[in-house]
Amino acid sequence: MLELVETNPRVNVQESEYQRLLGLPENYSMRGRTRELADAARRWYAENGRPWFYARQVNALKLADGQLSVEGTGFSSKQLHDQFIAARADSAVLVAVSAGRECEEHARQLWRESKPDEYFFMEMFGSAVVEHLVTVASGHICGWADQNGAAALPHYSPGYSGWDISDQIKLWNLLHGNGARHLEGNLEVMETGMLRPKKSLLTLLGVTRDLERARSLAKLIPCENCSLPGCQYRRTLYRQAPPQIEDVRALLPNAPGNGGNRKNASVLKAGVQYAINLRALEKWSKERLQLEFSRDGMVEARFRYEGTTCSNMGRALEFDYRVKLASTDDRRRILEMQCAPAAGDTGHQSQCEYLNNAEGLMRNIAGDKPLLGRPLSDVLQWKREYNPSGCFCDLARREHKWGLVLEVIHFALARRERELANGQAEIILG
Ligand code: SF4
Repeated sequence: MLELVETNPRVNVQESEYQRLLGLPENYSMRGRTRELADAARRWYAENGRPWFYARQVNALKLADGQLSVEGTGFSSKQLHDQFIAARADSAVLVAVSAGRECEEHARQLWRESKPDEYFFMEMFGSAVVEHLVTVASGHICGWADQNGAAALPHYSPGYSGWDISDQIKLWNLLHGNGARHLEGNLEVMETGMLRPKKSLLTLLGVTRDLERARSLAKLIPCENCSLPGCQYRRTLYRQAPPQIEDVRALLPNAPGNGGNRKNASVLKAGVQYAINLRALEKWSKERLQLEFSRDGMVEARFRYEGTTCSNMGRALEFDYRVKLASTDDRRRILEMQCAPAAGDTGHQSQCEYLNNAEGLMRNIAGDKPLLGRPLSDVLQWKREYNPSGCFCDLARREHKWGLVLEVIHFALARRERELANGQAEIILG
């Protein structure tokens, strides 16, 4: 029976993982202020951080009626149930990891001291530590499984797609109530499912002895998402998380490493300068934007945003933006603006601010209507903070996304005007 208790693990966050969480391009070399901030967070954590992890094997699994039950506790995730069935899992390992409360308290202090950059780097380093601890714990579990003629499956946590975050409480009770005395006082789970300290993770890994099956189905191999260097049990290459839409930071002229140069004159219209790179505008206007033109000259634009939360292990989230614009005679004034989670999205519930104050966050998201009543082209002069992180927790991040959406719409409409000027037919829907 496996039980791991590590109260002082060595933390060695890989630079590439740290950079990924900071949202920096893969080949970017940190320098100047970015380097300073990144090093300061790492140094502070090395001196003050108190990470830990705990893992325990459980054998009492039951898979029936589409539900997975572990030691008598039923979990609501169909995905997890299906994964266990597909892999013929016969046991599981419960895991808890945490970067410790000190790092969260320090980040909060930096925020209070009006040091948002330092706060952001500390937060991201805390997230990197959590990912690192999961990786280190996985290394132990995979080694143990191998020695026992078994294989571990990808880890899965409440709040991931298809597993309600409220199950965090059940998972915690299972861990805590059955021997994890070492966790006493180190972790709490709120009624909402939020963990405190928030730079922590509860997760579950299936274990199967059907090695052939575990090898043959790619979705049952965890190594693709595991960055452990030099792992002797690795079954496939590590592939970094797929690029998120928010990787626009790599394309933004004023993003770190991009020279801070906003001179990216559009070829669409003389004098027009977008904050977003033309490649990104081109791509998103094709893939994420829908425009409907009505006979009175008005336009309705719908944009699908996809990103990830900055904490809670970067859970995917999707939001729908809807913008109604007046006719060209009325300078394409912005008449309506709406933003809300896409139908079926659960990732938004994993944002820190949602876990803290769900009602307040959703009210703010619905209430933000920058540039309402003003011509669409005002977005080109709109001074907003560069803040490309994936979530919607504060105004700067929400405004950054609104700027992105409005620029994509502007770009698409300008292109359409050009096409019309070249004699291409217009389709009017309403
Ligand atoms: S690389 Fe694969 S085998 Fe090694 S620890 Fe990570 S998940 Fe396990």
